[in-house]
Amino acid sequence: MIFDIITIFPQIFDSYFSESILKRAQKENFIKINIHNLRDYTNNKHRTVDDTPYGGGAGMVMMVEPILRAVSSIISNFQFPISKQFSNSNSKISKPKNTRIILFSAKGKRYTQQDAVRLSQYKNIIMICGRYEGVDERVAEHIADEEISIGDYVLTGGEIPAMTVIDSVSRLLPGVLGNKESIEQESHNEAGTLEHPQYTKPEEFFPEGQSASGENGWKVPEILLGGNHKEIEKWRNEKQKHR
Ligand code: SAM
Repeated sequence: MIFDIITIFPQIFDSYFSESILKRAQKENFIKINIHNLRDYTNNKHRTVDDTPYGGGAGMVMMVEPILRAVSSIISNFQFPISKQFSNSNSKISKPKNTRIILFSAKGKRYTQQDAVRLSQYKNIIMICGRYEGVDERVAEHIADEEISIGDYVLTGGEIPAMTVIDSVSRLLPGVLGNKESIEQESHNEAGTLEHPQYTKPEEFFPEGQSASGENGWKVPEILLGGNHKEIEKWRNEKQKHR
């Protein structure tokens, strides 16, 4: 799966994508992440990507032109054999069918695990990260397939949402996590349950300053220590919650 991110702060992603599971997923070619500096797609001397809002108001708005140029350039580099693969519906720009273009927006549809599952079916995902007061509405109207919000709060930019989508989608791709079961049993799975509580060593923990005896220890539930797998499963099922 290939992710293309359009941003004016490309370096924000360096650390997150070069650690842990996402680092390995790239190394083993399960995913590829391309980061594009929107300023490279401007055609003015100052590499300006924003302008004042029509009708007045505070702040600056990101312009449609460099965004269209960036998206078109990314699409033109895709490898698709025949023009049949293009779709051009709803007055959106042409692109291969297995490509999704996302605009991050605080007013977009709230992102859920079901969206991660849905997006994991695409081959290419192009993400547009807004900044300032937001993005010219014509990007939502003519370029993006969907507007995604990662929650009901306002961030300074779409970069954290892009990391959120890449992280949540990548771990669903075959091979990325290694253990299929760990996805099936996780919170927000198909059954809509939240994961049961987890514990690890020690069996009983005494916070500093408390004596290692008596009633004060923080204990692991007895049932998890007994090795009766049937009983453990029953306990875990009981402990799973629904939102
Ligand atoms: N003026 C906008 C509003 O009131 O909705 C907020 C703009 S915000 C400061 C700048 C950019 O951050 C947005 O264009 C969007 O790309 C991103 N952003 C902010 N909050 C977000 C959220 N909850 N989900 C997704 N993207 C968000």
